[in-house]
Amino acid sequence: MQTRLADFIRDTPAGREADAILRACVHCGFCTATCPTYQLLGDELDGPRGRIYQIKELLEGAPVTVKTQLHLDRCLACRSCETTCPSGVRYSRLLDIGRSVVADRVGRSAGARLQRALLKRLLLTTWLFAPAYRLGQWLRPALPGRLAAMLLPRRAPGVRPAARGGRRMIALAGCVQPTMAPNINAAAARVLAALGISLIEAPRAGCCGALPFHLDDVEAARDLARRNIDAWCPLLEAGAEAIVITASGCGVQVRDYAHLLADDPDYASRAARVALLARDVSEIILAEQPALLTLLAALPPVAAEEQRIAFHAPCTLQHGQGIRGVVEALLAAAGYQLTMVPDSHLCCGSAGTYSVLQPELALRLRDNKLAALSSGRPELIVTANIGCLAHLQAGTALSVRHWIETLDARLRS
Ligand code: SF4
Ligand code: SF4
Repeated sequence: MQTRLADFIRDTPAGREADAILRACVHCGFCTATCPTYQLLGDELDGPRGRIYQIKELLEGAPVTVKTQLHLDRCLACRSCETTCPSGVRYSRLLDIGRSVVADRVGRSAGARLQRALLKRLLLTTWLFAPAYRLGQWLRPALPGRLAAMLLPRRAPGVRPAARGGRRMIALAGCVQPTMAPNINAAAARVLAALGISLIEAPRAGCCGALPFHLDDVEAARDLARRNIDAWCPLLEAGAEAIVITASGCGVQVRDYAHLLADDPDYASRAARVALLARDVSEIILAEQPALLTLLAALPPVAAEEQRIAFHAPCTLQHGQGIRGVVEALLAAAGYQLTMVPDSHLCCGSAGTYSVLQPELALRLRDNKLAALSSGRPELIVTANIGCLAHLQAGTALSVRHWIETLDARLRS
């Protein structure tokens, strides 16, 4: 694609990056077929090719309008289009650049700014979020159906194994997951302990930064990345092998630290090291598969009524991190039968705060996803990201769990 970027951005790092991305796009439109928002709305401007064109125009100096902002806001940043693109167009980077220019030029209404500020404050402030969420869970039986459905049922985390000598890895605790589903990281710690790896936490680490990043606050995201790097690097120096992440939405963000802090001379090299050592928990367990198979061989078969599982592959796992088929293979090795899930490349509509900011589209995507997940008549739905888990659970009577919880329960059966 030919480009003539405007003076305000042409000679900046973002401008040069955007120019290279735009020039890689041949405008073939293959990506449009796999875009969830295009499938729902049938409007070229709500598909990747149309969004790329709108970003090109605004970077070339065309007027930016609230309509452009709406089409970019409706994008889930699911990156299904990147997986499909034969030319390797890095759409999500272009989207970040386009959104930041639009945010500067158009701004947001006072109501939209307040909504985003409140979301950030509530979700990132543990002393506010944790008691409010727990109170909601406690009152859940008395709450109206729709409100109650937004809260995950309380599950005790169980015993978390103490760290031992030998191999160590660092767990990312994250911001909301420890409150919403403390069993997930506890289950990961138990499974890894069974494989001879101690999972430790860095007390001063916290949110990966994805949340503010997707709410137009890149500086807050950088500050959170710096805090995590400061907390993790001493543990890496002391021999920890990797940073283990059980929420794929956080995984994709931590893997991007190198890019996020590339221009920070104090953090760039440590950010690159952290990004290189970030692993989804499925990658760690895949690498330990021989030991896992030995453990599984000693177990009785999975009960017939617990065998059928539908796996929802989060976009941040399959498109963002390019991890495909790994969880399914591990669960199959553990004795489960994975049911067919049509259109498994499509987003469930959770997409960070998208389900709050674009509720109508998010609910339509969720209904479609649940229909696809339920079509093979599973007894359980599993996924790999807390956002998807909570979003899906709110729309179904089937239990939705993190797959590591299922593997943990299997190893203890
Ligand atoms: S598939 Fe790739 S090259 Fe084709 S229009 Fe989409 S982004 Fe551009
Ligand atoms: S990131 Fe997802 S929603 Fe956005 S244009 Fe690409 S496929 Fe469509």
